[in-house]
Amino acid sequence: MTCGVQYAEPRDDCPICEDERQYVGWDGQRWTSVEELRESGHRGRVAEEGPGVYGVGTRPPTAIGQRALLVRTPTGNVLWDMVSHIDDDMVREVRELGGVDAIAISHPHFYGSMIEWAHAFDAPVYIHEADRRWVARPDEAVRYWSGDTLEIAEGLTLVNAGVHFAGGQVLHWRDAEDGRGALFSGDIVQVVNDRDWVSFMYSYPNLIPERPRTVRRALRLLEPYAFDRVYGGWWKKIVHVDGKEAVRRSADRYLRFALDDE
Ligand SMILES: [Zn+2]
Repeated sequence: MTCGVQYAEPRDDCPICEDERQYVGWDGQRWTSVEELRESGHRGRVAEEGPGVYGVGTRPPTAIGQRALLVRTPTGNVLWDMVSHIDDDMVREVRELGGVDAIAISHPHFYGSMIEWAHAFDAPVYIHEADRRWVARPDEAVRYWSGDTLEIAEGLTLVNAGVHFAGGQVLHWRDAEDGRGALFSGDIVQVVNDRDWVSFMYSYPNLIPERPRTVRRALRLLEPYAFDRVYGGWWKKIVHVDGKEAVRRSADRYLRFALDDE
């Protein structure tokens, strides 16, 4: 009920909650199911978030309130990130928007009910090999990849930025915004409340900053990609213009503080 990640079968512990990046809910480990979410009145919320991009979330929110994004492109639709809930109305709404050809998830906190969604659309789920141990519900739909980048369709590239989780990935859409590009970043590259900036954390709830060398590596891997918008993991958490410059100056600021280098 805290991280919202679905397991294959009942168990006592949740390794994702027990990891130092997360926490066990204050009332102890508690569990729910997709059926219970439906019965307790959870519904889908599908709404436009930008050109060609629809948010797919729930009301009331599940897990940490993140929303997924349906990225609609001429070469296929990607469902980026994930929620815990799924129901027939949500599936129908997403189908009316062209359905899902592939799913990719930034990192384990957002695995949610990814296998349910994969089965609903007969779509593969791209996960970086470095996070294999966190996949809570193993399934044939999961496609592990390794290396720094993977083009999953023309102009749609996963980049293993590696911030927050070793397998942490972001999605670059080359042809977004009339060719200016967009980056879908989950909380690997976290869009912060003042939405011209981003930041980088190893743990958000426990406030552990990311290692400077990991931030530098992410910056280096993103260097070849142009992007105007950066879509973070929550509703309206979006850098609207000059996203690439926002990431650069934010990394500079982060490193200046982290390294105490005036
Ligand atoms: Zn996270």
